[in-house]
Amino acid sequence: FHGLDVNAVRRDFPILQERVNGRPLVWFDNAATTQKPKAVIDRLTRFYEHENSNIHRAAHELAARATDAYEGARDKVRLFLGAASSEEIVFVRGATEGINLIANTWGEANIGAGDEIIVSHLEHHANIVPWQMLAARKGAKIRVIPVDDTGQVILEEYTRLLTPRTKLVSVTQVSNALGTVVPVHQIVALAKAAGVTTVVDGAQSVSHLRVNVQAIGTDFFVFSGHKVFGPTGIGVVYGRKAVLDAIPPWQGGGNMIADVTFEKTLYQAPPNKFEAGTGNIADAVGLGAALDYVQKLGLEAIAAYEHDLLAYATQHLAPIKGVRIIGTAAEKASVLSFVLDGHTTEQVGRALNDEGIAVRSGHHCAQPILRRFGLEATVRPSLAFYNTCEEVDRFIAVVRRLAKA
Ligand code: PMP
Repeated sequence: FHGLDVNAVRRDFPILQERVNGRPLVWFDNAATTQKPKAVIDRLTRFYEHENSNIHRAAHELAARATDAYEGARDKVRLFLGAASSEEIVFVRGATEGINLIANTWGEANIGAGDEIIVSHLEHHANIVPWQMLAARKGAKIRVIPVDDTGQVILEEYTRLLTPRTKLVSVTQVSNALGTVVPVHQIVALAKAAGVTTVVDGAQSVSHLRVNVQAIGTDFFVFSGHKVFGPTGIGVVYGRKAVLDAIPPWQGGGNMIADVTFEKTLYQAPPNKFEAGTGNIADAVGLGAALDYVQKLGLEAIAAYEHDLLAYATQHLAPIKGVRIIGTAAEKASVLSFVLDGHTTEQVGRALNDEGIAVRSGHHCAQPILRRFGLEATVRPSLAFYNTCEEVDRFIAVVRRLAKA
């Protein structure tokens, strides 16, 4: 396997020492959320022990420390995404809130009756429902890029859907249900050539592959901290500066204003314009520590290791009698979705849990794509760089035993 000292890495994650049902925990539910390295846990503790204060508004020392830590984290996010300026980085609660923010700001200002919003068949509900709500308010329409039988988007169909009515294209970079790596660079380039605004949902990509928002060329990019080894309740909207400058705020309140009278309010410039009220300061700082951690390992090393591990798992799962793998695109990351003849997905999930192995079984908040394959649910192990071949072997042994039963 490619150069990553997995045993050293595992020692950085205290929870990997847990035992579940008498067995060492195997965390194969990374697409739902990731575990946290000691560096992140310690950073949160340090913040609350030495820096805790509200930010941006006081003259005292702790306010300066907290503000430095929070704005420092914003700059770490900028570097991580390859954004041009930290003014393009808005902290939100997560990818879901990020997409809702875009729908309620850019969408409110730019979508009208008869306009079309393109998403792919692979989307998480978080990248479907906010657009449906916007479309219902405005009399706009949702158009869907179909996928082939491997679970990859069909680009020729996409080019046919792009018309003068198209105002927005919003696609995921990695499918949380199937693991498909979507060619977002091409999708965005085609949209931009047609003058169409773009959103990329990076909830499942930033933990598995190197992302550069300027190389993608997208107007917006969102992700969640908890899926990239950071805390829950913190996430990011990247927005190109010219776009953020031009759109109205969403929530109103403190921090986002420059001046308030009863007659009129002047807003701050981005990013503050989009950060009303007291944000999730400590968890933003924790996210900064998480990004430092993955940067130190290197996204290239992570991607190479996980690629090999996913190939190993796929090789051993595919030949088991009665197993059907859903999602066989040439380029995949982390996710191995499957069903097993004669067993419900709940039964498989329970049998794995009995052995201390955590997977998700269900619809993965992506019902349309599962239904595309005639299913309501799959079993979904999803891997991270701290997983090992030995863990895959334990998982395979359980599925083999069930397949024979
Ligand atoms: N998009 C994708 C592709 C996801 O996998 C998820 C989380 N499962 C989300 C959006 C939503 O993320 P969150 O629940 O952290 O807001």
